Amino acid sequence: SAKSDGRGTYRIFDPQMDAVIQTRRSLERDMRTSLAQGGFELYYQPLVNLQTKRVTAFEALMRWNHRDRGAVPPSEFIPVAEDMGLIVQLGEWALRQACAEAVEWPDDIRISVNLSPLQFSKGNLVSTVVSALASSGLPASRLELEITESVLLEKSERNITVLNRLRELGVRISMDDFGTGYSSIGYLRSFPFDKIKIDKSFVRDLLVDEGSLAIVRAIAGLGVSFGITTTAEGVETEEQVRCLNLEGCIEVQGYFYSKPIVASQVAGVLAKLNEQ
Ligand code: C2E
Ligand code: MG
Ligand code: MG
Ligand code: MG
Repeated sequence: SAKSDGRGTYRIFDPQMDAVIQTRRSLERDMRTSLAQGGFELYYQPLVNLQTKRVTAFEALMRWNHRDRGAVPPSEFIPVAEDMGLIVQLGEWALRQACAEAVEWPDDIRISVNLSPLQFSKGNLVSTVVSALASSGLPASRLELEITESVLLEKSERNITVLNRLRELGVRISMDDFGTGYSSIGYLRSFPFDKIKIDKSFVRDLLVDEGSLAIVRAIAGLGVSFGITTTAEGVETEEQVRCLNLEGCIEVQGYFYSKPIVASQVAGVLAKLNEQ
């Protein structure tokens, strides 16, 4: 049914659309409650150096265990959290939690935390990072922050200033999901990244698609030229590891080594991966 609002326009009531909106609202409400009540959790996935065969870092990956829906994947709740602006608080929680947990790990193991572009435009990212490091006691050199190119697309000048201030603290900056979206090599010139993470879509097709192999080879070459570490994500097989090693990738991350794990499993996974 449609109702006139009295100015010649109509508001359409579509029951299906209404259901979508209701679902969305309850998701938003539940996310706020969960954040306040400890319903979010961080999982950790190791990054392994191909030369030394040792774990260099763990990436923190957010998990939401919803009381009715069960585990909601980040691909579903992060876009909603971004829309409602909650990602700023959620991201701050993740940063504090990750630093607090990582400080218990061996000194040579870093923690990598994903940032949303919204954390750059809203809230004060630099003071949040400073505060997370100070309250956890984690040295800045043990923190890596992963950003996507969208951070450099919008408000790029302002965001590059923020990135430079983070780097001056001693924090490392990684470019995540490289090769997807608008990915431009020019971004590598606009900011001195410490690491490029090759998107898992290229790793998945590495052995079946020559285009993907060519892209991985080119990115690894860029890494060498710029003096930037290249990390391949989504590595699932030994054949992929061998190929990535041959192409000059420095680091690998994926189910082949370990799925994302809870904090209590970190010591065990470290011992197992580092002894091999
Ligand atoms: P990402 O940062 O690119 O993380 C890599 C994703 O690949 C993770 O998905 C990880 O679980 C998955 N993965 C790792 N190894 C493999 C593999 O061998 N095969 C396959 N098929 N997948 C693998 P996840 O945990 O579902 O996270 C998805 C995305 O959500 C992340 O992509 C990141 O963009 C975002 N995200 C996760 N946690 C956070 C967070 O704390 N803050 C923000 N802003 N975003 C986050
Ligand atoms: Mg990431
Ligand atoms: Mg990634
Ligand atoms: Mg990715």
